[in-house]
Amino acid sequence: MITASSTHTKRYADLRSFVQRRFGCRVHKITLDAHFTCPNHDGSKAVGGCIFCHQGSGHSTVGTFTIREQLEQGKHYLRERQKAEKFLAYFQRYTNTYASVETLGQLYEEALAVEDIVGLVVGTRPDCVPDPVLDLLQETARRTYVAIEYGLQSIHDRTLALVNRAHGSAEFLDAVSRTAGRGVHTCVHVMLGLPGETRADMLETAKAIARLPVDGIKIHLTYVLKQTVLGDMYLRGEYRPMEMTEYVETVCDFLERLPPYMVIHRLTGDPPRHLFLAPHWTLQKWHVLNAIQTELTRRDSFQGCKWTPPCVKSPTSQ
Ligand code: SF4
Repeated sequence: MITASSTHTKRYADLRSFVQRRFGCRVHKITLDAHFTCPNHDGSKAVGGCIFCHQGSGHSTVGTFTIREQLEQGKHYLRERQKAEKFLAYFQRYTNTYASVETLGQLYEEALAVEDIVGLVVGTRPDCVPDPVLDLLQETARRTYVAIEYGLQSIHDRTLALVNRAHGSAEFLDAVSRTAGRGVHTCVHVMLGLPGETRADMLETAKAIARLPVDGIKIHLTYVLKQTVLGDMYLRGEYRPMEMTEYVETVCDFLERLPPYMVIHRLTGDPPRHLFLAPHWTLQKWHVLNAIQTELTRRDSFQGCKWTPPCVKSPTSQ
């Protein structure tokens, strides 16, 4: 039997291989701040934001630079540091579909007009994608690569309420369903170690995502930042971050339950150092990634080995 373990160096569908197949060269994301806000900060859904979010407390780091200027700066930096050849414009900060379709169209087109930009990545909330926005992304995806990143974090409504997401799993399921079939790469963000969640809860999230038309996933550790509600909980002793062994084992369990074709965009977090509180082991990103690979090898396990494909009814079945 041919398995992922016998055919790939990595035991999961890593992003680098996906990018190489899709673009045939080194492609890096350039993170953009388009000066959006978020309905979970501005009061239209809630105030205060998610309990782990620092964006409401921070100021923009890019000042008044335009999208083009941010991309030119990013290209220069990544060419020098990473030998990158092509780039994706990553609308990342806050909720990047939270504006009129006309405004979104102008911003996305400004990015795509910059030389060597080969696609868009748009990070957003699942309750901020009305059909006209998805139509715009679908139209754009006919001529270039387009990915949408939905922040979910957990499939459990009680957790989403606890962390003040101000949306539930129903909005996520609806957004994914309305995005499917539009030629847009759909990526989901989840967080392991959210308050009140057991390993079984986290694996329920994996199983729920595994049944959906989702192309990629970012798996994050819940780390603790200053100037956040979670940071205050941590300092009062009300929240304990995951230990590294716990995280590594849970990530492996999670990967085993995902479809083998789902692209793994991320397995760690990159916390902003100036706001960082805990846990310190997460700052050693390569150490964590190596530990995940070592654990999969120890188990002789790989992404998808515990995944059950959704049952497809034959046309004649009742
Ligand atoms: S949805 Fe995103 S930007 Fe908005 S509060 Fe939550 S983490 Fe922050």
